[in-house]
Amino acid sequence: MIWNKGKECMSRDELADLQGKRLVSLVKYMYRSAAYYRTKMKNLGMEPGDIRGIEDLGKLPFTTQEDLAEAYPSGVYAMQGRKIAQFYALNQLSGNGMTTGFTQKDLEVWRECMARSLTMANLGKKDVLQTTCRCGESGCLEARCGADKIGAAALPVTVDRPSAVIGLMQKLRVTGIVSTPSSLLRVAQIVEERGLRNSLRLKAALCGGEAWTECIRKKIQEKLGAKVYDIFGLNALTGLGVACECGHQSGMHVQEDFFLAEILDTHTLLVLPGGIEGELVFTTLQKEGIPLIRYRTMHMTKINYAACGCGRTTARIDRICEGTDDVFFIRGNSVFALQIESALAGLYDIRASYTIYIRREHNLDVVDVCISGEQPDRADVVKRVRNAVGSVIGIRPNIRFAQNAAAKKAVWTGRAAGEGSVTIVDERRFFRK
Ligand SMILES: [Zn+2]
Repeated sequence: MIWNKGKECMSRDELADLQGKRLVSLVKYMYRSAAYYRTKMKNLGMEPGDIRGIEDLGKLPFTTQEDLAEAYPSGVYAMQGRKIAQFYALNQLSGNGMTTGFTQKDLEVWRECMARSLTMANLGKKDVLQTTCRCGESGCLEARCGADKIGAAALPVTVDRPSAVIGLMQKLRVTGIVSTPSSLLRVAQIVEERGLRNSLRLKAALCGGEAWTECIRKKIQEKLGAKVYDIFGLNALTGLGVACECGHQSGMHVQEDFFLAEILDTHTLLVLPGGIEGELVFTTLQKEGIPLIRYRTMHMTKINYAACGCGRTTARIDRICEGTDDVFFIRGNSVFALQIESALAGLYDIRASYTIYIRREHNLDVVDVCISGEQPDRADVVKRVRNAVGSVIGIRPNIRFAQNAAAKKAVWTGRAAGEGSVTIVDERRFFRK
């Protein structure tokens, strides 16, 4: 089943034409409404008329998270009389107060993306869709909107008590789930331990919101007896549903009439052809609230433009396994290396070097902070380092002391107080897939 054949199966030429027209309007809209973007274009000596189609995309400047933070909020919201219908707080754990906003039309685009995604997972009006997202995440809402659009029943629950989640799955004969992979894996483990698999009616699960692997997918599928689909979204774009896998499970179809994807070489800043890994960059072709042009997502992936066996012609991106070298995904949150560095540099009276290991234990992300350097009051250091790092990464790190901590495979290095250094090792990057 394909939700919107007209858009999901159009020829690549027709699609490029549609994308080009939408890009031209978007640039005009941004130039009129978003001060930070107008300034950027003026600094490059550009005017909206310089963009005549998709072939001119490369002339436009990139947008980074730093750009948005700098321009936030007045220069970002391109409202022009358009009312923001819903706001979402971004990076709630880091407490930077950034929000994103959606107009009614943006929410309709989101619903359409979710309807297409749920249909890819073979869900329809007879299904009961459970959303097991953490409280406050937009995932619950978008799944509910999507369920509504395809006529399925929606059942939002929190993930705090997997037993309660399973109880509801049984009672209400849940057939579809939207969840983070780590939450669903916990549910799947309990289902297996208690031998409940045959008491469930589950046929499809859509997992997204954090980095995961093919091995985890296989485990969840086995334990739950359901097919598991990869789904992608970013709150800065439009939550979940920007891209989703079809039944062929070979890459996530991007909703290219709304989101124009490019893959960037992070060193040369040149656009890469299909099949080569680089940073995923998106232009939101139809967004009104906070539109983004060539937004650098800091996610690394590849893109595949070949037609898919399902009949859809939209390009597919690979599962997102990791971020660029200065951003890390820890239990679904993106954490900048610089945030960790500045938290540790703030402990100016502690003379130490820190090696931070991010690894996976029982399929959950775990962070160890290894401190080297003589410390007269170790208990005090442990407490303060744990608080400083914990407030940035959103989970409680393990702290240990070691002289000359081995820092092979460092992916990022920075400075701590005094002569100290901060080294980050993401061990998950070396055993993925
Ligand atoms: Zn497909």
